[in-house]
Formats: sequence, structure tokens, C-alpha cells
Amino acid sequence: MVNVEKNISHMNVLDAVEKSKACPLCDLNNATVSKYIDDMLYENVNDRGLRKKLAARKGFCSFHGELLLKHGDALGIAIIHIDQIQLLLNHLKNAGNILSFLKGPEHGDWIGHSNCLICEIRIEAEKRHIETFIELIDDNALRSYLDSSDGFCARHLLMVLAKLKNKGHATYLLELHTRKYASLLADLKEFCRKNDYRFKDEHIGQEADSWEKAVHIVSGKIL
Ligand SMILES: [Zn+2]
Ligand SMILES: [Zn+2]
Repeated sequence: MVNVEKNISHMNVLDAVEKSKACPLCDLNNATVSKYIDDMLYENVNDRGLRKKLAARKGFCSFHGELLLKHGDALGIAIIHIDQIQLLLNHLKNAGNILSFLKGPEHGDWIGHSNCLICEIRIEAEKRHIETFIELIDDNALRSYLDSSDGFCARHLLMVLAKLKNKGHATYLLELHTRKYASLLADLKEFCRKNDYRFKDEHIGQEADSWEKAVHIVSGKIL
């Protein structure tokens, strides 16, 4: 069973590196997060364990609240939030001495949402996918897919590098990405040059979407 699971995660990583249009690790994490949200909204909204967890965490961070809305299952979202709004009302009812209540530390999760369940799922998925990628780093197919991709975003390149124990692997990834990022830099400069009115009639080539790629490399594409 363990080997079957391992093979499936290896295949998922290979598939993402082959097909990804941006950073494959961002895409893998995003797929895990999306599936988690779908499963939660369509199958688990009445699961007592999940609702208990969400109650303890006071819902989701603002970013993942918006992501939830984009998944669009109104009923699932409503069911989950009956608990949340009730909790908020209970919390406010506990005010007692209102001025000391308002200054108390117990509002942390409402304000910062640092315990967001989807953030936690994303962080665990990221760790798992990075480990699987490192297991496959000598695989010929993986290297050939990675060669023809745009490479990792800065966040994931640096996270992978920090986990490597083999100098040869580090040199391989570093050289590959230095080449890819340098080529992106050249494309960005070419894109800006062709936006100058003196050169506006020149044909736009591979630099056309360099500005979009640059945002994904610098900021990642993280759900
Ligand atoms: Zn990434
Ligand atoms: Zn979150």
C-alpha cells in the first residue's frame, strides 16, 4: 500500500512537471487545496469532526474565504458558516465588562486567522510535494520535463534547495534556474523595448507573456 501511494505521488509530480504552465510545485499545491475545498463543501460539511475543527479555528483566513466563494457551493458554505456566525455571536455575548473584554487576548483568531485550516492543508501539501520532487530528482524523464518548463517560482526553488543534501543536485537546479530566469529577464527587456512607439511595428515573440511569467516567478501562484 505504501509503495502504491508512493508511485501515485511520483506520477503526480512527473505529470505536473511535464504539463505545468507555471511553477509545477505551485500547481500541485493548488490542486491539493482545490480538491480539499471541493471534498469539504460537497461531502464533509456535516462531518462533526470537521465542524469542530473549524469552530476551534474561527473559520478561514481572508484569502481562503475568498477562494471558498469562488468554488461556489452556496449551500455547503452556508452550512459551515451557521456555526461560525453563531460562534461570533456567542463570543460577543461573553463581553461582560465590555472595556476589559475588548482589550483581551481571546480575539486573536478572529483578527489574524493564523490557524486557517486551508493554510494548514496547503503547507502540508507543499512539504509533501517537495519531498516527492527530491526523491525523483535523478529521474531522466523529470529532468527532461523540467528542462522544457519555465521552472519553479522563487519560493519553491529556494525551499527545494534548502532541503537538498547533495551538492550535485543543488548545482543542477541552481544552474537550470539561473538560465531560465536570465532568459525571462531578456524577454522582459525585449517586451519593454517593443512597447516603445519607435519599435511598435516589430513582431511580438515569446516575450509576449513575460510580464505574467515574471509575476508568477517572483510571487508564486499560490492558493
Ligand atoms: Zn511555486
Ligand atoms: Zn488560509
